[in-house]
Amino acid sequence: MDSYQALWDEARDEPPFSNGTEGDGWVYANCGTCWHDREQRNTEALGPGCPLVMVALNGRTPIQWLDGPRDADGRYSIQGQYHCVEYRNEDDGPAEPQPIPDPPGQLTLAPRGDYEGVRMLTQPAPALTAP
Ligand code: SF4
Repeated sequence: MDSYQALWDEARDEPPFSNGTEGDGWVYANCGTCWHDREQRNTEALGPGCPLVMVALNGRTPIQWLDGPRDADGRYSIQGQYHCVEYRNEDDGPAEPQPIPDPPGQLTLAPRGDYEGVRMLTQPAPALTAP
């Protein structure tokens, strides 16, 4: 993931949540099991945690947070308000992609870097529509 400053610069200049209940509920339901925020849950050795959460706490909406499902009236559930494309369950292994290495002795036909990016992973079971 990029640095805090880069994430801040590209974020939408609008607060992501309308109140603390929405923010706490979403962060609890999503970041509570995410690899990127694991250091904030480690009471033995607290770390900086996820920079996307810090962007949100400072009043901008990360572009990595896509709108979650809405019903016909535009309502959404607190835990499903956003779909974070950087979410990775803490039990899923390393957070960075682990590409299959090029076979030894083979030439690479196309540079791989242009085709590597954020993966859309399974979310922590958000509700599909508003309660
Ligand atoms: S990557 Fe997304 S889901 Fe994970 S801690 Fe950061 S904001 Fe939360």
